[in-house]
Amino acid sequence: MFHPDLIRHPDSCPTLVLNADYTPLSYYPLSIWPWQTAVKAVFLDRVDIVAHYEREVRSPNHVMRLPSVIALKQFVRPSQFPAFTRFNLFLRDTFACQYCGSNARELTFDHVVPRAQGGRTTWENVVTACAPCNLKKGGRTPRQAHMPLAIEPIRPTSWQLQEHGRRFPPNYLHESWHDWLYWDVELEA
Ligand SMILES: [Zn+2]
Repeated sequence: MFHPDLIRHPDSCPTLVLNADYTPLSYYPLSIWPWQTAVKAVFLDRVDIVAHYEREVRSPNHVMRLPSVIALKQFVRPSQFPAFTRFNLFLRDTFACQYCGSNARELTFDHVVPRAQGGRTTWENVVTACAPCNLKKGGRTPRQAHMPLAIEPIRPTSWQLQEHGRRFPPNYLHESWHDWLYWDVELEA
C-alpha cells in the first residue's frame, strides 16, 4: 500500500492517501500511491478526489486530471497494536539509541536483559542501541553495565507510532498535500 520511493520521484505524480476522516493513512512512511492505483480506485468508486495535479491523462472517453490527494470512502480502522517489526521498533524509539540518545550512528537492536540471561525478544525487552553502546553493554543488563535506559521500553499502540511518524516529514511534499499533513517539526527544535 505504501510507496516511499515515489516521494523521491515527484515527477511521477504520487497521490497522497487519506483515511475517510481526512487524516493520512500513515505518516511514516507517508501513505502515497502511484497515480495509476489512485485512478483505478476513483473508477471503482472507493475514493473521493480531494485535490488534483495539473497533469492530465486521456483515454478514448475520458480526460482526467491526476489526483494529488484522495480520501478513502470507507474508514480503515488501524489495528490497535502495530506489528513487532524492525522498522516499528526503530520508530517507537524515534531512531535514537536508548542509551546515549545518538541518532547519528549505526543503529542496532539490544536485548535489555540479554538472551543468555533469559531475556526475550519482545517489545518490552528490545531497544534501539547504537553500535558502540551495544558493544559496550555486551551481555549485561543495564544495571550490570551501569547504562540506564532513557525510557522504559513498552509495546506501543498504533496511535503512538503514528505520532512518532509525524516527526519525520519526507523531503518532498506536493503543495496540495500540506493542508492534510501536520508535522511535529517544532518538537525537534
Ligand atoms: Zn548509544
